[in-house]
Order: sequence, then structure tokens, then C-alpha cells
Amino acid sequence: MSDGFDEELRDLRARSLLRRLRTFDSPQQPTVSQGGRQLVNFSSNDYLGLAAEPALREAAKAAIDQFGVGSGSARLVCGTLSPHTRLEETLAKFNGTEAALAFSSGYATAVGTLTALAREGDVIVLDKLCHASLIDGAKLSGAALRVFPHNHLGKLESHLAWAREHAPEGRVIVVTEAVFSMDGDRAPLAEIVAIKKRYNALLMLDEAHSIGVLGHHGRGLADVLRLHGDVDIHMGTLSKALGVSGGYIAGSRKLIELLVNRARSFIYSTAPPPAAAAAATAAIEWLMGDAGEQRRELLWRNLARLGDKLPRSLLGERRIQSAIVPIILGESERALDAAERLFEAGFVVPAIRYPTVAKDAARLRITVSAKHTAEQIDALCAALERLVI
Ligand SMILES: *Cc1c(COP(=O)(O)O)cnc(C)c1O
Repeated sequence: MSDGFDEELRDLRARSLLRRLRTFDSPQQPTVSQGGRQLVNFSSNDYLGLAAEPALREAAKAAIDQFGVGSGSARLVCGTLSPHTRLEETLAKFNGTEAALAFSSGYATAVGTLTALAREGDVIVLDKLCHASLIDGAKLSGAALRVFPHNHLGKLESHLAWAREHAPEGRVIVVTEAVFSMDGDRAPLAEIVAIKKRYNALLMLDEAHSIGVLGHHGRGLADVLRLHGDVDIHMGTLSKALGVSGGYIAGSRKLIELLVNRARSFIYSTAPPPAAAAAATAAIEWLMGDAGEQRRELLWRNLARLGDKLPRSLLGERRIQSAIVPIILGESERALDAAERLFEAGFVVPAIRYPTVAKDAARLRITVSAKHTAEQIDALCAALERLVI
């Protein structure tokens, strides 16, 4: 019997949906090298340039010298080392919550948290554009799922009314993102908070792409809108603007204690390397200092420049609201072709296709870093004008 792998791969290729790994030989920086070629990188989530920052490297090296490389076991056995505890104390302070819990990735955070907090008899209400990790966690939980069209408050409210009727005793959790990962737009958080309160639902907010980018000291969207106390379950990643690896939940002491006891991706997985925890702690401390504020200003200066120089026909009516700027092209083939031409011209900009986005909404996803130069941004805009329009 044939394993069918070939047919499946051929089918993906025929639909311009085949994906391939590409190896780079340099640190994450605005300029990366591949096979001896220098390319300008507009595809990283390292928005502040922290992935290669000296202070973080030093923190990781010091932790390796003191603790070695592996943590030896799961957190609940003997894998909780002082860098993990220190990271969680720092995360709680940064988020202004009673407690926080670090996971080995943002993906593990979403899946572990939703499966810990919801089960049959509960309801999870998600924005249609939520990240795969949130969707997978919601599906795996066994709770009833209700999806509302992107940022659609009326549908959110009718789903909550349904939830209250069908699961009067159940836990109801609204899940959304502060900044959407493939669209770069923001959730209408004040309105969502008002609605979730009326229906006595919990709110889980994924700040993966807003931490480090928005708010005082980069605390995220809830901070910008002064709604921090109204978010029940703060989720974030340590892997995007913080430049390291891992994810976290911040919230009440009781929430964290429940996750320690129930989140399977936390319980049944070896604790992250101590060096990663130490580097993430250094990232948050850096973010809370003057250097963090200055670097974030540079990021927004670069975003303003991109907004000015980007051909109008590509940006459309959209405003730049985060470090993620999508150029929506439609067909997968068109997005792939545009990405290949940009690559030939020396720019790394990914083509985002189905199933990451809807079938007719394939796009280029430009991400900007504080470390890009004005010349690099201008050159990208010129290349887009030349090669994509
Ligand atoms: C990247 C991302 C995650 C997953 O985080 P990782 O640390 O990469 O596993 C979760 N949610 C959102 C919105 C993301 O963009």
C-alpha cells in the first residue's frame, strides 16, 4: 500500500500551498545572511531587536555558567530552578498581577490554559482570526465553541447570550488577541470588556504582538486602554518582541495555582532551559528601563516612515496599528510570486497563505523592527512599487 505522502505533497504544490524551510546563518537582525547572500529581513517578530541584544546574551551565558543547559525534569518534579521563579515574579510585576506562570512556548500556553479552564458544559467564544494555538486549545478542551466574525461585537454578544442560556452553570470564556498576528489590527477591547462583564464571562487576551510594542513600558493594549484589571487571563509570549522563547499567563494567584495543577502542557513537559528564563527576565527588565522606551520610539518612527512611503494602492484604507503590516493580494499564487520576487531583490517578506489566513486573503506580511534603518524601509517600499503592484 502506498503511504500517499507524494500525492499529498504534489497537491499542496499544485495549489501554491507547499511550504519550505529556509536556513539562515546569522543572528536575527534586520540584515540576515543566507548561503553567503545578505538579505534585509522584514519577516521577524523580533520587533525591538532583542533576540541578539548584548544584555540578553550576557544573562543567558551567566545562567548557563550557574545552572548548566538543561532543567532536568518537569516543573512540578525538580525542574523549577531559581531563574524560572524569578521570571514569573518579574512577569507578575510587569503585568501588575498577583502571579504569573511561564510555559515552554506561546503555543503550549494557549493549549494548556484553555484545556485547563474549560471542558464539556463550558463555552469558549473566539474571534474568527484568533491564532491557531487558541483555536487548538479551544477545540481540545471539549467546551462548546462559538466563533464571531473578526471584531464583530454584535455577534460576540449574541454568542454570549446563547452561552448563558445553554450553559447557565458553565464557565464562559471570551478569547481574543490584542493585536492580530496576520492583520496587525487591534481588538476593540473597551467594548469587549463591557460586553463580557454583562454576561459574567471571563476574558482571555493574547498580547503576543502587543507586548513590547504598545503601552507604557510596552505593557500591551490593555495597558494603553487602562483596562488591565478587566482582563482575567493575560497571555503573552516571550518569543516575539521579548526576543527569547516561551509563553506566559499572568493573573490572580488562584488562576495560576489552578494552571499549575491542571495545564497539561505545563505539567507534562520538561521545564524550559534556565538560560531562556534568565534571558526573558533580562528582556522584561530592559523593557521597563529607559532603553526600552527609546527602542520602542524607534520602532514607531520606523512604522510611521513605512506608512508614509508605502504605495497607497497596497495599504488601502488601513492604518498601521502595530508592527505588523499586511499587504493583502488575494490568491496564494500571487502572494507566493510576490514574495519570491522580493527575495530575489534581497528582501525577506513571507507569503502568508491558507490555512493561516482565508483562501482568498493570501498576503505579504511585513514586520518592522526598531533596528531597521530608514534606507532599508525606503528600499523595501521602492521594491514593492517595482515588483508587486
Ligand atoms: C506566535 C503566537 C503564539 C505562539 O507563541 P510561540 O511562542 O511562538 O509558541 C500565540 N499566539 C499568538 C497570537 C501568536 O502570534
